[in-house]
Amino acid sequence: MPKKTIDDIDVRGKRVLARVDFNVPQDEQGAITDDTRIRAALPTIHALLERGAAVILMSHLGRPKGKPDPRYSLAPVAERLSALLGQPVPLAPDCVGPHVETLAHALQPGQALLLENLRFHPQEEANDPVFARSLADLADIYVNDAFGSAHRAHASTAGVAAYLPAVSGLLMQRELAALGGALDNPERPFAAVIGGAKVSSKLAVLRHLLTRTDLLLIGGGMANTFLRAQGYEVGKSLLEADLIDTARALLDEARQAGAQVVLPDDTIVAERVAPDAPHHSAGIAEVPPDWFIVDIGPKTRALYARTLSTCRTVLWNGPMGIFEMAPFAEGTRAVAQAIAALAANGATSVVGGGDSVAAVEELGLADQMSHVSTGGGASLEFMEGRELPGVAALQDK
Ligand code: ADP
Ligand code: MG
Repeated sequence: MPKKTIDDIDVRGKRVLARVDFNVPQDEQGAITDDTRIRAALPTIHALLERGAAVILMSHLGRPKGKPDPRYSLAPVAERLSALLGQPVPLAPDCVGPHVETLAHALQPGQALLLENLRFHPQEEANDPVFARSLADLADIYVNDAFGSAHRAHASTAGVAAYLPAVSGLLMQRELAALGGALDNPERPFAAVIGGAKVSSKLAVLRHLLTRTDLLLIGGGMANTFLRAQGYEVGKSLLEADLIDTARALLDEARQAGAQVVLPDDTIVAERVAPDAPHHSAGIAEVPPDWFIVDIGPKTRALYARTLSTCRTVLWNGPMGIFEMAPFAEGTRAVAQAIAALAANGATSVVGGGDSVAAVEELGLADQMSHVSTGGGASLEFMEGRELPGVAALQDK
């Protein structure tokens, strides 16, 4: 069921409490090193301000352990946001309490206020109803634009929705439309490329996808467990021995569901897991006993690129190799380029997952994808078919 958005309600003259994800990376001095998350919330903030709302913004930042800690203050965010919005956004000294209420109630249409870090209070992560109520008391309407936190049932992402009309922001709407569209109503052929370190962390994703996709391309460390399940030796590679049977069962399930699972044909093997280690390509039957599989090989790169080029929808989660080390990043690069090239044919490409998104951004291909998710853990849970508490709390259309 689609969720109501800020386009479905009248915000003029109202105070809007908006949960955003301003959990930005910072250097040791506290300077913001990447403001992507702040920029991602701008369309919603702009829309609300232009439509005559007074906007009260709230977010968490880092892990301050439930007490005020100046290292986790949102002050640098308030400063950057003011610059990006072109209007001052003062920072409240806290997120609840009489002083904050006074500030919130004095806010005029077209003005914005940023509350201090929600996680200075342990009640936030505990989803404490009294705390959620105090947040709700600041405003007339609740907007959730923090897709990256929607898999958490916290006071600001779920609890507060019990006390106010609750709708999604534009970023949240875009995330749900892109991920939901790919999973529920994909143009076919629909392929999922699943990689990353471990089968265990992607088991639920694989299960959910194999009944929906036409093709499942597997790479990364997790491919080793599937290769082992087919009887190949994987040397000293990352392997989840306790999941070999599960991997075999998944392959059977996929066959029954009519999804074609494509496993690597060849690999890059390295003597050690280090960027300067001797390495070469090796067929899957030729992995030396003391070596490590660190990437998919050249034949597999070509096979995956060719296969993806015929697809109309591609969902990608998980790098193909240890891409953090330049010599082992070729598989991830080839897959990223093949998926990015789909845009030219009007096909849909959706990338989710912290490391996959980092890889796509590093390669400068993010703007060629139909959608790059801003939520690592949230996008993964979405791909598992789970209902996110922060989404469930919003009003249905
Ligand atoms: P995402 O964050 O996109 O969901 P994951 O966290 O599941 O992705 O996996 C990313 C990690 O997987 C990277 O740190 C990468 O080094 C690792 N990885 C990929 N291939 C291998 C491999 N062959 N052996 C060991 N680790 C791997
Ligand atoms: Mg990761």
